[in-house]
Amino acid sequence: MTLSVAIVGSGPAGFYTADALLKADPECRIDIIDRLPTPYGLIRFGVAPDHEKTKNVMRGFARTASNERVNFFGDVDIGEALSLDELRELYDAVVLAVGAAHDRKLGIPGEDKAGVVGSASFVNWYNAHPDFVDRTPDLDTSSVVIIGAGNVAIDVARVLVKTPAEMAATDLPDYAAGPIQSAPISDVYMVARRGPVEAKFTNVELREMGHLEQCVPQVAAADLPDEVTGEMSPRDRRVREKNLETLRAFAGRGADEMPKRVHFVFFASPVEILGGEHVEAVRFERTRVEKGRAVGTGEHFEIACGLVVAAVGYLSLPVDGAPFDHKYGVVVNDEGRVGPGLYAVGWIKRGPTGVIGTNKPDGRDAAQQIIDDLGAGGGKPGREGLEALLRARGHRWVDFEDWQRIEAAEIAAAAEGAPRRKLYRREDFLAVLDEQRAAG
Ligand code: NAP
Repeated sequence: MTLSVAIVGSGPAGFYTADALLKADPECRIDIIDRLPTPYGLIRFGVAPDHEKTKNVMRGFARTASNERVNFFGDVDIGEALSLDELRELYDAVVLAVGAAHDRKLGIPGEDKAGVVGSASFVNWYNAHPDFVDRTPDLDTSSVVIIGAGNVAIDVARVLVKTPAEMAATDLPDYAAGPIQSAPISDVYMVARRGPVEAKFTNVELREMGHLEQCVPQVAAADLPDEVTGEMSPRDRRVREKNLETLRAFAGRGADEMPKRVHFVFFASPVEILGGEHVEAVRFERTRVEKGRAVGTGEHFEIACGLVVAAVGYLSLPVDGAPFDHKYGVVVNDEGRVGPGLYAVGWIKRGPTGVIGTNKPDGRDAAQQIIDDLGAGGGKPGREGLEALLRARGHRWVDFEDWQRIEAAEIAAAAEGAPRRKLYRREDFLAVLDEQRAAG
């Protein structure tokens, strides 16, 4: 009997799972469901607008979605349009691939002041996520503090300091490009609570900061150790040595070389956001690293700023109908198995770390588990059942052909050299579809 599988979430974890299932079971039918009308999750809303090449994985995902055994149900919120329990009644297997779309909190006094934003919100804003487009941050400041030293911190810093020319061939939406590029920002401080050796950013991303048109990286030579010490894999050691080499080159750059600067500040842990209603500065405690952990030294300093972006990692929220581990911020799972016929992949399974490709093995594991657990079973209604239920509730959905029409409209509207001009209002998505339906 044909196995029906619903995948909730159309980001990389969802698509790699669909891909693996198609290969592992020549019969199964797969429906990929997303609460937004657009597929691809973090590829569309997380990857930086100036990293178009990283988004090339969308082409492979589009091929997967175009397979006759796969359907896309966009604009269907599991939890609102129908419950997870209802979905489990309709499908032999349900895979949760909902990611970690929310901001982790800093957990320090003052973080609710105006001018303090989480990186997920900030990145979603400049990437035209429909839920965030109206959350324009206050960019009227010369100084920005970014807390964290991961790749998201680097993305945010780069997008804030790149020139209009550097961002011209990107899909940065006009409503974000305007305020960012007219902002009086001259200094961005990226502050890490540990040292350069412990920083999470990867070397390609770090090196990019040395090649910006109007911005020079700054780092204190005294913060850079002579060598990478301690136990680690040869691969990790290579990355860290390369990062040190890059940072050493940055340490030789002059502050006046360019009108803007990104300062890499190490060994500083945020203790309080200062100011009145609006942030005016961040207070830090100097740290030293002991056994890999940041330990406070009791010495404090402040960095004045008008905007704080907390780039301290993403957070998953509980999924109604699935057990949740609040400590680790993941759905309770045993190597991906959550309950009978229920599985988890990607960040909701293992937390918000790793790059896009890290989701591939998750997808392969889930596909194998589904086949091992359900074998040739099946028999639940799958797609026909979902469509009947949505129709009965008067719920319209966006299928993959609909999405391709939206995508074609975005490409047609792109400025010269840019890949697309993203749509972000529900009414604009629906208008494209209505126009096409009327024309066709
Ligand atoms: P991340 O790599 O985990 O970095 C989080 C940063 O926040 C770390 O520097 C961490 O310091 C710091 N931090 C956490 N809690 C803190 C606190 N309370 N106070 C001060 N600092 C704190 O997370 P991310 O940057 O959000 O990235 C998520 C994943 O996406 C990563 O795997 C990343 O590589 C990936 N990604 C990749 C790319 C790319 O390949 N270009 C782009 C974007 C994202 P500690 O290390 O001390 O904990």
